[in-house]
Amino acid sequence: SPRTFQVGLIGDGIQKSRTPPMHVAEGAAQGFDLCYDLIDTGTMDPVPPLAQLLDRAQDAGFAGLNITFPYKKEVLAHLDTLSDSVTKLGAANTVVFRDGKRFGHNTDFWGFAEGLRQRLPDAEKDCVLLLGAGGAGGAVGHALVDQGVQRLLVVDRDPAMAQALVDSINRFTPGRAEVARDVTQAAAQAQGIVNATPMGMAKLPGTAIDTALIDPRHWVGDIVYFPMETALLAAARAKGCRTMSGAGMAVFQAVRAFELFTGQPADAARMRATFESI
Ligand code: NAD
Repeated sequence: SPRTFQVGLIGDGIQKSRTPPMHVAEGAAQGFDLCYDLIDTGTMDPVPPLAQLLDRAQDAGFAGLNITFPYKKEVLAHLDTLSDSVTKLGAANTVVFRDGKRFGHNTDFWGFAEGLRQRLPDAEKDCVLLLGAGGAGGAVGHALVDQGVQRLLVVDRDPAMAQALVDSINRFTPGRAEVARDVTQAAAQAQGIVNATPMGMAKLPGTAIDTALIDPRHWVGDIVYFPMETALLAAARAKGCRTMSGAGMAVFQAVRAFELFTGQPADAARMRATFESI
């Protein structure tokens, strides 16, 4: 009989998530009986406490859970063991249940880093400009520094968010991050520009940076993936820049979570094909 894995996603408003189909298709392709539940608190009234949702899944024999907005930070209080990236970010997106214990991981961090390694292996990393220091920007900023960025310039419309991310990065790697006060100057100094704001999403068109500041010498990444080619990436491509879409992070976070849930390697190309078919 096939190996059985019960997993799921806890979040608020997750009906359109592409993560469940990636896991289900990969499980089926590997001959597993893998079931992926949507635990959408947006559909619950009243909304049970997170502790209760975690208990229920653990008691029901789940192999693990993905965790998304707005629970990635709150979940830490309910875990037994945190990976290094979870400790750094203060956020987890994956929980593994094993031997009665809960292990927290952040595969957004790994997913962005892996996407960058594969898509832009030669990206210059002396100085990179990061736009957006929210939940996803935290994973991206820490991952950029982990991947060797020496000087990370951080811009956020909310200066307190930019400062908080800079402080968080410098706590672990002193002196590597700074708040960029002047975007024009930051873009001129940066070799790479990464968007981690929601700007560019179908429902939020536009760019977080004046595209006139993008130069052909820049490499440009976006983590927005709907649409796959944002206005930022289109402008960068038109100038001849090397670019990276948000698909890499979205697919690789699922690849790593699948491996953590099942203990088996995932086929990243197959998961990407599922992602792109949605
Ligand atoms: P968030 O709301 O937590 O953070 C967004 C941050 O961007 C905020 O701090 C906000 O102040 C800042 N911001 C917004 N507009 C700005 C602008 N014009 N200039 C400068 N700063 C601006 O959101 P999040 O959870 O970090 O997600 C951001 C986006 O990343 C999402 O909308 C989603 O499209 C994308 N995302 C992609 C993946 C992936 O796997 N590819 C994963 C998570 C999120």
